[in-house]
Amino acid sequence: MQADDLFRITAEQAKLGTNFMAIHTGINWETVKRLRNQGRHGGLVSRGGAFMTAWMIHNEQENPLYAEFDYLLEIMKEHEVTLSMGNGMRAGAVHDATDRAQIQELLINAELADKAHAEGVQVIVEGPGHIPIDEIETNVVLQKRVTNRKPFYMLGPLVTDIAPGYDDRVAAIGAAISSSYGADFICYVTPSEHLALPTVEEVFEGVISSRIAAHVGDMIKLKKRDADLEMGHARRDLDWERQFQVAMNPERARAIRDERMPADTDGCTMCGDYCALKIVNRHFNF
Ligand code: SF4
Repeated sequence: MQADDLFRITAEQAKLGTNFMAIHTGINWETVKRLRNQGRHGGLVSRGGAFMTAWMIHNEQENPLYAEFDYLLEIMKEHEVTLSMGNGMRAGAVHDATDRAQIQELLINAELADKAHAEGVQVIVEGPGHIPIDEIETNVVLQKRVTNRKPFYMLGPLVTDIAPGYDDRVAAIGAAISSSYGADFICYVTPSEHLALPTVEEVFEGVISSRIAAHVGDMIKLKKRDADLEMGHARRDLDWERQFQVAMNPERARAIRDERMPADTDGCTMCGDYCALKIVNRHFNF
């Protein structure tokens, strides 16, 4: 692959109408040097980041997307593409979170993002990766501070490495927390992450998990809590239809209830005749 191929393909896809492209602008010799000097517990897991790093070392050339960033901006501007500045050095293991290579790339992307704005190109700056919960706030604050509050795209983050098969949930925990601290955009992760290409069902599960995370984040960041209030009322009133309407996935909620419908109570089979809500509703008119 030659440097020109990168720009040619980018321009072709921009012309076709792509609105948003993740491009690894922040990997340069400085970033690669940080990676070399420090080592890694979990290697390099960004596919684009790995391609770019290997290409640079193999060809002994600077990353063209960094070296000829102005040319890239021309393409983005001409076709009104939003540039998502890739986090190629993101940690792929919680023990690598917030390391020097990641921060080096962030600083480079932050400078390039200012340049993009000056040229009228919209940007999103990508973040990590795998981060333990106690480093999420730091990552959001740092990213927002050094990028002059540009939109921040958090990839997960996955908050532990030991739950393959459940990584949609692992990522949703991190995404909800990062969103509550100010991340603007989150990605979905499926249960088959780190194991295999996801099935359609696993994609669906991953999307639902990320929607839950987005909502949980918005409850804090945007104070969006109306739906939760409505659900609280619907549950209190044992109004099942209303509960299904408010539910994030009404079909699933309805299917579970229909499958285990109680015979003689408008509560549910969890407490049966001893439905707490039903008992207390007799004595209170909330
Ligand atoms: S039976 Fe128990 S779980 Fe079911 S609605 Fe009543 S209080 Fe809630």
